[in-house]
Amino acid sequence: MTPINFITVHHDGMSAFYDMDERNSVNRIESIRRFHRDNRGWGDIGYHYIIDRAGRIWEGRPIGFQGAHVGNHNEGNIGVLLLGNFDQQSPSTRQLESLNSYLNSLMRTHRVPINRIATHREWETASTACPGATLQTHMDNARRRGWIG
Ligand SMILES: [Zn+2]
Repeated sequence: MTPINFITVHHDGMSAFYDMDERNSVNRIESIRRFHRDNRGWGDIGYHYIIDRAGRIWEGRPIGFQGAHVGNHNEGNIGVLLLGNFDQQSPSTRQLESLNSYLNSLMRTHRVPINRIATHREWETASTACPGATLQTHMDNARRRGWIG
């Protein structure tokens, strides 16, 4: 997958999830991976990075491979997923801290400007509430300020 031009932020949109435990985070990620593989027929989970409630960052699909997370716009588009449903809850502080620092790092590494950081619902092909109201607000505020942090 080259070159990288966009980063898109998602929530999992399942039930509200407050668990910080590592094993339960892995279980939730694995259930998403199984759904993508078995129900969608994809080779792997569609997102490149997953951030759990404790702020741990997990690798999903390796960055060398195109993701599967935005309809018709996966080329050069990194997919970042936060565990939880942000129409029903807010991201945890640790989750937001990890998201902010990881987005900054991805932006530097791949030379992606802030105006190419999107949320799922902002893509014109998307018909989704993803990444949920509270995470959307966080991203709106960050981009309005002109920096993510
Ligand atoms: Zn999404």
